[in-house]
Amino acid sequence: MATANISHELPPLPDYTLRPLPPLVSWLPDSYLVLLLIVVAYWVVSLIFHVFDVYDLFPQYRLHTPAEVLKRNHVTRWEVFRDVVIQQIIQTLFGFILALIDEEPMCGKEEYDVAWYAQKIRLAQRAIPPLLASIGLNSGALATKLSATQPMLAAALSGGNYPWLVKMATVAGQHTLAPAFAPWELRTARILYSFAIPALQFLFAMLVVDTWQYCLHRAMHQNKWLYATFHSRHHRLYVPYAYGALYNHPFEGFLLDTLGTGLAYLASGMTVRQSMWFFTCATVKTVDDHCGYSLPFDPMQLLTSNNAGYHDIHHQSWGIKTNFSQPFFTFWDRFLNTMWNGGDVTARYEKSRRHAQQKVDRENAGDMKELSADSLTQSSASELDESSRGQSVSVRRSTRKKSSSISQSTAGNWKGLRNKVNESLHGKGGNVLGVESSH
Ligand SMILES: [Zn+2]
Ligand SMILES: [Zn+2]
Repeated sequence: MATANISHELPPLPDYTLRPLPPLVSWLPDSYLVLLLIVVAYWVVSLIFHVFDVYDLFPQYRLHTPAEVLKRNHVTRWEVFRDVVIQQIIQTLFGFILALIDEEPMCGKEEYDVAWYAQKIRLAQRAIPPLLASIGLNSGALATKLSATQPMLAAALSGGNYPWLVKMATVAGQHTLAPAFAPWELRTARILYSFAIPALQFLFAMLVVDTWQYCLHRAMHQNKWLYATFHSRHHRLYVPYAYGALYNHPFEGFLLDTLGTGLAYLASGMTVRQSMWFFTCATVKTVDDHCGYSLPFDPMQLLTSNNAGYHDIHHQSWGIKTNFSQPFFTFWDRFLNTMWNGGDVTARYEKSRRHAQQKVDRENAGDMKELSADSLTQSSASELDESSRGQSVSVRRSTRKKSSSISQSTAGNWKGLRNKVNESLHGKGGNVLGVESSH
């Protein structure tokens, strides 16, 4: 039992008794639930974008064509999947260690904390009379004038003087009359405790992660050994897709993502429950940054200008030395002058699209020739071979059909990409990167 802090002028802080906080899921400690949430969020969001890819649901918002996904990446989807799972295993093991050193979550102190903030609000009111005096206003006269109609306002103006607000309180084990908080003070204190302070902690954690990742990410690009040994792996994805977000060298994944967010959590003083939001949000944001879509209805892409369009430029060979900031804001790129400023990116995107499509077309043409040769040879083959030949033709036909649909859809898709990139980066009408509208 903690002893109440009594002051003759300030309302006293209530006593409190700490007790273990029951976990959200009865059979799983909250610190382990966070680890599960991070992995589940990663794969659920990735799966949604994968479905977009497979069923070509939003071709008009794709940053790259399906042909580019096929031809420009230097790593298979299986390798990406495998390395992401490895990183998530490391991340989960690290989370277990953090959970071991973390104190057991407790509760029971909430009303004490709210009253603590209310005391600070009461103290802050003492600054009002001198502040008013500095601009020539007499707070005493004002308070007297308002005391009949606006007693709370009058009390605040007079420096937080609420002589009529008293209540029975237990002080040193005895019931006694003590000063009380005004309802507005308690309401404000509750908003501070429940929303404002957690929001500031969240923002601070985001800034820590951004700073950590910007410094290390930029170092990975500036030091040849670091790039060749670690970071080049992530850049095998020239055309990022959602679940490639954590495709990294395991050491880099641990250093940038796992350690970065872990440090942000510790530095911000978040509770485990708050960290559920933070880790999940950071994970979803990273996936979204690599999703390959510039979606006008995706809140993650609208909150800040660091989004899929922004990070995609960093994944291109011509933009790789720019746009290092990730995952939340772009201010480090802005301050340190590493934001892409090479002008209109439309022609560059179009060139990549065209080259990838040409490769697909060439391969299909080769397939067609091969198919014709096969047909001639096999027309004289025995009946036994007939069924397998039919199977081969049908496979090739389906391949051809698929690439033809790629060609048709991408022709339409590309129209408007420039505007989509522009809008997603800077809002409608913005043009900081020189991505202009087509006319
Ligand atoms: Zn990079
Ligand atoms: Zn990336």
